[in-house]
Amino acid sequence: MYVILLGLPGAGKGTQAALLKNETGLAHVTTGELFRENIRLGTALGKKAQPFVESGRLVPDEITIGMLLDRISQPDCARGCMLDGFPRNLEQARALDEALAGDGKRIDRAIYISVATGKLVRRLSGRWSCPNCGAVYNEISLPPKTPGVCDNCGFQLEQRKDDRPDAVRTRLEVNLKNLEPLLDYYRAQGKLCEAPGEGDVEDVTRAVRACLEGEH
Ligand code: AMP
Repeated sequence: MYVILLGLPGAGKGTQAALLKNETGLAHVTTGELFRENIRLGTALGKKAQPFVESGRLVPDEITIGMLLDRISQPDCARGCMLDGFPRNLEQARALDEALAGDGKRIDRAIYISVATGKLVRRLSGRWSCPNCGAVYNEISLPPKTPGVCDNCGFQLEQRKDDRPDAVRTRLEVNLKNLEPLLDYYRAQGKLCEAPGEGDVEDVTRAVRACLEGEH
C-alpha cells in the first residue's frame, strides 16, 4: 500500500506517520528528514539542499525527485510506504506516479490532514525535535516527559532552524500555493480522503486510520 500524507507544515503528518508505522507496517518516508540527515552528514546532496531547507523554500525538483525515488526503491518500501512531505507540487506527483507505474505499482490513497493556517504558526513555533532520533514534540500538545529532553534517547531537543518565524512564513506561503492543485490531482483520481487535524493527537490518528481503512 502506498499512502501519501498531505497537509501544511505543522499539520501533524510526521507525528501521525510515526504513530501508525507499527500498526500498518508501512515504512515512514519523509523527504524533510532525508534532507536534514544529508545536511547533518555534510553530503553533496545536503550541501545543495541546505540553503533551501533553512530558508523554508522548496528544494528543486531535480534534487528532490531523485532522492525520493531512490529511497522508495529500498527493500523496506517493497510492500509500500507512507510518504510524508512528498509530493509538494504537481511535477513531483506526476514523477512519482510514473515511477510507480513503471514497477506495476500505484498510489492507493492520499490523506489530507487539514488544519486552519492560523493555528499552524503557533504549532510550529512550539515544536521541538530530537537531532539524534528525529522524534518530534510540541510544548502544548505533545510535550516530552522531561522538558527539553528526548523521551526515546535522552538527547537534548532542538528547535529546527526552519521553525523560526521568517522561515515559517515562507514555508506556509510556498505550501499554500501548491496544496490546492495537489488536492485536486488526487481528488480527480478518487484517492483523496480528508482527516480533520485540529483535535487531539488520538482523534487525528483515528481519522487517519479511517482513511487508511477506506472510509471516505
Ligand atoms: P518538512 O520537514 O516536510 O517540513 O520539510 C522541511 C524542508 O525540506 C522544506 O521546507 C523544504 O525545504 C524541504 N523539502 C521537504 N520535502 C520537500 C519536497 N517534497 N520538495 C521540495 N523540498 C522539500
